[in-house]
Amino acid sequence: MTTTTMNLLRVLVLLGVGSSSVFGFVVPITTQPRLKVPSTNTNTMDCLCIQTPETFSSLTKIFMASDGEEASPIKIIIAGAPASGKGTQCETIKEKFGVVHLSTGDMLRAAVAAQTEVGKSAKEYMDSGKLVPDEVIIGVVKDRLAEEDCAKQGWLLDGFPRTQAQAKALEDAGVSADCFLFLNVPDEVLVERVVGRRTDPETGKIYHMTFSPPADEAVLARLEQRSDDTEEKVVVRLEQFHANVKAVKDSYTEISVMIDGNRKPGDVSNDIMEALDKAKANA
Ligand code: ADP
Repeated sequence: MTTTTMNLLRVLVLLGVGSSSVFGFVVPITTQPRLKVPSTNTNTMDCLCIQTPETFSSLTKIFMASDGEEASPIKIIIAGAPASGKGTQCETIKEKFGVVHLSTGDMLRAAVAAQTEVGKSAKEYMDSGKLVPDEVIIGVVKDRLAEEDCAKQGWLLDGFPRTQAQAKALEDAGVSADCFLFLNVPDEVLVERVVGRRTDPETGKIYHMTFSPPADEAVLARLEQRSDDTEEKVVVRLEQFHANVKAVKDSYTEISVMIDGNRKPGDVSNDIMEALDKAKANA
């Protein structure tokens, strides 16, 4: 089959999927000559020479969405060492894509504060900088992902999966993501970031005593330090991270995007947005 025939067939299949809203949709994707295809609205129409199955799949989704069917919401995993900047980037991602942000660290801290069964089991591990056992955290995440808001809005998993068993549990539950973002930051930078990190309990905003202290004296006075953000505990947290990171990364090679996290938050964010726009187009 010639390339031209293949392209023609793809366009015809696409026309079969959409409705009248399809006719008139023109995207300049290629420099290939346009094909003339009979349509029901006009005698002939300009159409695209679609070069790859990925492009075809993306366009089909756009057409389906324009026909009133929801395009699937994006599902994202963000990973990286402690203080690699996940929390800061999650704020921006949440704002742009409207996804549900699920930080296992925040969920566990809330469980500890509320003294739930999960919180009671997790506390001693968290206090010493160790990972909470897989059997404690896996159920919590699976239950949360099954809630309606996650299905409707899509989700952003932050801090999970952190072990091979957690990645396998997601796979076994049929949970797949569209993009696995990994923030790369050298260990020595991480230690400096962790030790100076402070949170405003009123707004949840994260500051750094050296790199980004708050301008407002009142905010400065109420800042809190996480109990595991000490030099001693970050060593344990980094050990745990390095012991598991390869297995987790290896579970997502096909959707992985490596991001240099050792830059200004805005620059990191630009790369992340670019990666997510691409992932969303293929979601
Ligand atoms: P960080 O990534 O900076 O270590 P988090 O707020 O994500 O901080 O997590 C804080 C603590 O919560 C971790 O040190 C660990 O004890 C526990 N925790 C969070 N997510 C997981 C997980 N997926 N598996 C096991 N323990 C976890």
